[in-house]
Amino acid sequence: MSDTRATLDSLPVSALRGVGPKSALRLSAFGIETVQDVLFHLPRRYEDRTHVREVGGLRPGDHAVIDVQVDLAEIRFGRRRSLLVRVSDGTGALLLRFFHFSKAQQQGFARGARLRIYGEVRRGPAMLEMVHPEYQHLEAADSVPTEDRLTAVYPTTEGVHQLTLRKLSDQALQLLERESLPEWLPEALRREHHLTDLHAALRYVHRPPPDADQAALEAGTHPAQQRLAFEEMLAHQLSLKRIRERARHLRAEQLDSEGELLRRFKAALPFQLTDAQQRVIHIILRDLSMPHPMMRLVQGDVGSGKTVVAAAAAIQAVESGCQVAVMAPTELLAEQHFGNFEHWCQDLGIRVGWLSGKVKGKTRARLLDELAQGDIQVVIGTHALFQADVAFARLGLVIIDEQHRFGVHQRLSLRDKGRDRGVVPHQLIMTATPIPRTLAMALYADLDSSVIDELPPGRTPVQTVVLPDNRREEVVQRVRQACRNGRQAYWVCTLIEESESLQCEAAEDTAAMLAEALPGLRVAMVHGRLKEQEKAQRMAAFKQGDIDVLVATTVIEVGVDVPNASLMIIENAERLGLSQLHQLRGRVGRGTAVSNCVLMYRSPLSAMARKRLAVLRETGDGFEIARRDLELRGPGEILGTRQTGMVQFRIADLLRDQDLLDKIDQASGYLLEHCQDNVKPIIRRWLGRSARFGEV
Ligand code: ADP
Ligand code: MG
Repeated sequence: MSDTRATLDSLPVSALRGVGPKSALRLSAFGIETVQDVLFHLPRRYEDRTHVREVGGLRPGDHAVIDVQVDLAEIRFGRRRSLLVRVSDGTGALLLRFFHFSKAQQQGFARGARLRIYGEVRRGPAMLEMVHPEYQHLEAADSVPTEDRLTAVYPTTEGVHQLTLRKLSDQALQLLERESLPEWLPEALRREHHLTDLHAALRYVHRPPPDADQAALEAGTHPAQQRLAFEEMLAHQLSLKRIRERARHLRAEQLDSEGELLRRFKAALPFQLTDAQQRVIHIILRDLSMPHPMMRLVQGDVGSGKTVVAAAAAIQAVESGCQVAVMAPTELLAEQHFGNFEHWCQDLGIRVGWLSGKVKGKTRARLLDELAQGDIQVVIGTHALFQADVAFARLGLVIIDEQHRFGVHQRLSLRDKGRDRGVVPHQLIMTATPIPRTLAMALYADLDSSVIDELPPGRTPVQTVVLPDNRREEVVQRVRQACRNGRQAYWVCTLIEESESLQCEAAEDTAAMLAEALPGLRVAMVHGRLKEQEKAQRMAAFKQGDIDVLVATTVIEVGVDVPNASLMIIENAERLGLSQLHQLRGRVGRGTAVSNCVLMYRSPLSAMARKRLAVLRETGDGFEIARRDLELRGPGEILGTRQTGMVQFRIADLLRDQDLLDKIDQASGYLLEHCQDNVKPIIRRWLGRSARFGEV
């Protein structure tokens, strides 16, 4: 590769016109540091400003350029002061609506003034409208040229505007004419997968020609986009594979004791492990006996018995002389684990500790001391486990439950937490959110994965119905009936707002309503605003059968285990993710009685919501549900991108591009084997700074 080729990927963005120290800083915070970064900051969508449309032909939803004349401008003092400008072009008329405007702007709209406008057409009360369109004044009567390319619309952030990004990409593309970017995909791969030229692809996606297939561009299926999507997915996969590869060079304690404690643990269980549980435990024991860290994801549907599997791993680690940390995402779930582990461990002479953010003062100090001394072998808790002052005598295994709430980065930082004497702990990650294979390949390529694909015997499928909430009366009758038959029920209140206090209020209202409608039944309520102790007491009372109906917010999402509860009511079901609904529903159907779940929704239900809820009615298989949810909504929603800090792609789309995954799997293998030197630059190009997490 010649020298000039390496320039654009190291040329700082401040080399471009208009980028001073201040804006360089803002761009850098946005992940744009080099000219290459500008080129790989890809458009989110396109606008067609290549020709002027007739006003008479516009439809709501159109994005269009129009040339018009001002008929009338006036200020309206309504709920909000607004400037209304009526314009026309001889084929029709349209209203422009501005909520923020200056005096000068207002004066510019003199009757007869000519304007070139670009905006989105909407249906207004009287006629079609554009709200805050872009516009420029046309001076002479002759026509002004339109854009000769489709206009790219870039993702922006505070302080980095659309126009800035367009100017920067203009300059970067000009530079690309003279200088080149390194091509990191070897010829063989490009040929095999019919990948177009990198420069041409970049030029095309930034400045598509006017005759471009805009539908394909919007859908992201144009070959130029696919070329880039391929490289992007490859970059993500390489970074994950590299993390995994490096883990093979790290050392871990070999947890290979005889298994005497484990044998006693199994013998004491009141049930037989399922074949799937035994198989997964076997795989884990093999991993633990290795001198490098296990990084294993165990997926298992709600109720498949993951906790026992986790306990088996923990017990093996303890017998091998190490400590174990078990982390759960919520206090409630952690507490439930604590109860189980304590119960299982007491006869084995294993000491189990408890640590959450609420453990403070002397209790906390004593616990930390015992952990540091190695007197406590298993500690269970929340994120609090990973605070800086928590030290272990000999941490050998970290178990994380409900993985979907943590991203790759958290995963790694947790592992490094236990790093000591050149040894890192083994890691076991348990998730009840089944991840379709394609997603697992793209997002968890750094983990080995096993599936507990069998439920313990005797589970009865949950019958699910979907009802509008104006049939609440019937639902209340069902609750009464179930409780008369000696069963118990959950009533879950959810709201779309993240506001916990609103959720709590809803739960309080519902509890009051039920108490009144169901005299003689014991109704209790748990929600996030209750004191821990109070919450625990109520849960315990429900478990003992002293409460008939438990009204709850989604705090019961995970970790409640009451076999006698056979009815689950979920309000506003249309607002929850399918996997979340599936998990909630998994709280019933744990005993021998036929269980029911009522999904209530607020009318009207959108066609999409109807389809989604139908999936739950049709199947109880978590994997099938995840697969259908993926089809209906896309991966970000399923995995809860926002909460998890899960990867965000610039151009690739895991759902749309899932057919590429197999090719990418191959390609990444090829690169790692034959072109090691290209790996880092590809990752750097697409993942930027976040890729540094891959440095172990
Ligand atoms: P999840 O996979 O959802 O975390 P849990 O580990 O909470 O499931 O197990 C659900 C319930 O099933 C618990 O009450 C547990 O004791 C019970 N259980 C686990 N394994 C078996 C088994 N092999 N046979 C019968 N019951 C089991
Ligand atoms: Mg569980």
